Amino acid sequence: MKIKIPKKIEVIGSTVEIIWDEEYCERFGVLGQADVNHNKIFLKKIHENKKFTDDALVETFLHELVHFMMRKLGKTDLNADETFVESFSNVLHQVIKQL
Ligand SMILES: [Zn+2]
Repeated sequence: MKIKIPKKIEVIGSTVEIIWDEEYCERFGVLGQADVNHNKIFLKKIHENKKFTDDALVETFLHELVHFMMRKLGKTDLNADETFVESFSNVLHQVIKQL
């Protein structure tokens, strides 16, 4: 099953807008960015002239979504822990793919 990255998603009482913005991400030197204050997740599709695979895009989206969730839950320590965010979002991806 192909996972579709939505334009908007409800997360803990907030409507989060998913924005594809190459320039924004380039400016911050990231593949994605969770902006909790403005309920936005920024993502990019292309990196160094190469288009990401659908799987890679979903992984980045879930990674940023986990950052968003941890911030919303007040888990600032977990939000800052990139190893946690990366492994948790990978587990989430593995489970979602089986739904
Ligand atoms: Zn991260």
